[in-house]
Amino acid sequence: MMRVGGKIALITGGTSGIGAETARLLAREGATVVITGRSVDKGQALAEEIGEAARFFEADVTNEADIKASVDAVVTAHGRLDIMFNNAGASPGASLDTLTQEMIGSGCHLLLSSVMLGTRFAAEAMAETGGGVIVNNASIAGHRFRQGDILYSTLKAAVAHFTRLAAVELGPRMIRVNAVSPGAIATPIFWGGSARANTLSAEENAAKLDKLKANLAKAAPLPMAGEPADIAEAVLYLAADSGRFVTGHDLVVDGGRIMMFNEMG
Ligand code: NAP
Repeated sequence: MMRVGGKIALITGGTSGIGAETARLLAREGATVVITGRSVDKGQALAEEIGEAARFFEADVTNEADIKASVDAVVTAHGRLDIMFNNAGASPGASLDTLTQEMIGSGCHLLLSSVMLGTRFAAEAMAETGGGVIVNNASIAGHRFRQGDILYSTLKAAVAHFTRLAAVELGPRMIRVNAVSPGAIATPIFWGGSARANTLSAEENAAKLDKLKANLAKAAPLPMAGEPADIAEAVLYLAADSGRFVTGHDLVVDGGRIMMFNEMG
């Protein structure tokens, strides 16, 4: 049985890594999927790979009008929005010593206001058709020290708390809001993000991925690297009826990395 058969899903940052794998899985499980991002070629190639069930919509999540336009495009094309995965992101790479107001502002636009506005516009659409499910991509960086830079960690913690607050507000409208907190999943975010990966050859990206996986396999109690598919499965669980009584939850998927000590304890 298809677990999200007939559902309409929108995935921000669907052109790479976790978002791309979630698009593939939700489509295999019966959903129609609209993926967004800035990389038009990659987005269109993925939509073609998935086939009839997918389409790409160009949108930058740092731009409020783009977020609204992508939700509106889904509703215009399909009449409803059932599943919103606020996933797009990258690491700002900021240290406390070098923080500026501009860096904080742009980090916030990418990692927090994107999620807050994505939730707002998705919830407005979902309320029109009796409910839906929103999943926000947080991180174990929001739970512990020395996992991502200080700005990234702070904003991811805010994503998790916003998720709880939104779950309380939107529950009466039959909209569930949950977060997933991945830990060390092998994607281009570790070598400059999707945009930098676009500038490298397939061989260069493959070499970076192999090296990364070998390193990640040593960094958690489970001796293996996390894969985008591990997070896609978590999103599917939360988005499908399997998660029908789950809201305001932050689902950690990290091979136990969150419990590991490092030099800061
Ligand atoms: P990734 O492979 O680099 O993918 C990032 C995605 O975000 C790409 O599709 C990219 O698309 C999109 N994106 C970045 N900036 C954007 C913008 N301004 N507007 C629209 N889309 C934008 O990295 P990933 O690991 O899959 O990351 C996905 C999410 O998981 C992020 O929120 C990240 O913080 C979170 N996460 C990842 C890990 C991990 O270990 N990998 C751990 C915890 C949390 P375009 O380049 O096409 O714009």
